[in-house]
Order: sequence, then structure tokens, then C-alpha cells
Amino acid sequence: MKIFIDFDDVIFNTGKFKEDFLNKVFIRNGATKADFTKTYYHFFKKNGQVDRYYDPKKQLKALGKKDYIRGDKLEKDFHIFMKNLKKYVFGDVAYFLKKISKRDLFLISYGDPLFQKMKIEGTHTSKLFGEVILGKFRKMDLISNVVEKHKLSQNDKIIVIDDLPKHLKKTKALKERLITFHLRRSEGRYKNLTCKYADYEVKNLKEIIGIIKKEKIV
Ligand SMILES: [Mg+2]
Repeated sequence: MKIFIDFDDVIFNTGKFKEDFLNKVFIRNGATKADFTKTYYHFFKKNGQVDRYYDPKKQLKALGKKDYIRGDKLEKDFHIFMKNLKKYVFGDVAYFLKKISKRDLFLISYGDPLFQKMKIEGTHTSKLFGEVILGKFRKMDLISNVVEKHKLSQNDKIIVIDDLPKHLKKTKALKERLITFHLRRSEGRYKNLTCKYADYEVKNLKEIIGIIKKEKIV
């Protein structure tokens, strides 16, 4: 059994983090919510299409230029805030990690790798996973790459845990061996979305451990 577990809203309380990130870093130093939103994404053209990404350094620089924002203090507060994000890790994560061996556990996160990396580092959890995979590609494709790279045995079941339904859509390559869990935490930003692709729907990670035991998944 190999488990691919998502970061945002699964391991990490992203909703609460985002609220505090805005208030305790930006609003505190004079930025408005509109300033924050307007400077959040940087846009670029790729293959004739406009794409966007988030780079906090660029945002800090853009906001620091405004005369009503304390640029130096903003940057300092940003680094202090990002240094320790342990309090945003959900309470059942420690229990879950204790039950699953590290070599079977992959943290897989979709999004801007730079900021995702900073968030994960702030939680000080990366050492608890066999591997951390970041990228802006389709999740099932990222998982297929890992399966190939590590030459995982055909007998190994592949468990995917995610809060976003679209990431649980099974691909042909993995279909036979996949078991998908749709996690709908009460704190999750996407808790109202239903998922027609998932094998199981759960509210927390403890429930998943219970199902793995009951169904004798190996
Ligand atoms: Mg997520």
C-alpha cells in the first residue's frame, strides 16, 4: 500500500492560514484587502495563453513601494509568520502519520511550487513523508510518474486522499489499483463539493485508518 496525501485542506488548515496570512502580515502593515488581491498573482504568456502564478517576493516588493505600507516591516513579518505554521496542521495528522510507515507515504501538492514549499517547510512535517511531490500538473499523472519511478509492485494498492473532487478522477493507467478517499473536513474550503469519483467519503483521517483496517488494504 502506498498513500498519496494532499496538503491544502487535508493536512493543513488552509482557510484559517489564509485569513491569518492576510490579517497578520498584510493588513497589519497598512495594506488593504484590495491591495493584497491586486498584487497576488503575476501573469505571463505561455503558448499564446495567459497563465498566472503566485510569488510572495514579488508581491512584497510591489506592496513595499506604496507610501502607506511599511515595506521593511511587511517583509519581516512575512518571514516570521511563515517560519512556524505548525498550528495550522490538523489535529488528526499526528495520529495518521504514526499509523502509516514513512516509506509508504507521499505528500503531493498541487499549486505554485515556491509558495507550497514555504508552507510545507513552515509546518515542519516534510521529514515525516517518504517523498514530497510538488507541481502544477494533473495529480493522477504525477502519481503515475512516482509509480513508474519507484517501480511499485502491481500488488501495491494506491490510496489517494484529497479534498478536491477533480483530483480524484481515476486515470486508465492506475484504475485497477486505486482507492480514492474524498476528505470533507468541516474546516475545508471545498467541503460543499460532492465527488462522484471517490470510493469513500470521510470527514477526517482517523476514519481512513479505520477503513484501511476494516477492508484489510495492503
Ligand atoms: Mg487540497
